[in-house]
Amino acid sequence: MDCFIDTDFKKAIEFHGHRCPGLAIGYRVALIAIDCFPDKSQDEEIVAIVENNSCSIDAIQVINGCTFGKGNLIFNNHGKHVYTFFGRDEDKAFRISLIKDLSISNSSSTSKNIELFEKVRNGNATEEEIKIHNQMKDKKILDILNFDTNDLFKIEQVNMKIPKKARIYPSIECEECKEHVMEPLAKKSGSKTVCIPCYNEKDEQS
Ligand SMILES: [Zn+2]
Ligand SMILES: [Zn+2]
Repeated sequence: MDCFIDTDFKKAIEFHGHRCPGLAIGYRVALIAIDCFPDKSQDEEIVAIVENNSCSIDAIQVINGCTFGKGNLIFNNHGKHVYTFFGRDEDKAFRISLIKDLSISNSSSTSKNIELFEKVRNGNATEEEIKIHNQMKDKKILDILNFDTNDLFKIEQVNMKIPKKARIYPSIECEECKEHVMEPLAKKSGSKTVCIPCYNEKDEQS
């Protein structure tokens, strides 16, 4: 398998901790994003808005340098394989959505395959079954790496309001746990100003 994989994908595997179809999807997305901004130099930021938090995001962090810490990775929890990229200083945004059904339950899967997948997931597969499963997984990864871009994704240039860079907010002290919390995220609980976990705890008790 290794000889079929290019160095950048290896980097993503190293970061992610294993190779998997999800990471391969993210890797393809990351390469498309690079192509979308051919004029961007290495240290100019592109921002990614991702609509899932699956394995694929790790490839985007490694290849595109989009990370939470830098503020150029935005997570919208929609459970969708949709990835939107934009440059900080331009109106151009590209929306990349997965159009191919790669799930284990898609029409090309046999019931035997699904059964095997379940067995491995539940930890009661034999060594031989695990081997077969890994071979199938590797084949799927190679397929994803080699599919024509247009068979895998729909890529559109979209107009969107580019989110402003995150502001730095003052911190205030939560009146319950006494820990500091960014001001816009503090909540009113009765007469007290509290952090979200303390607010939720109150909510559960009532
Ligand atoms: Zn993974
Ligand atoms: Zn608190």
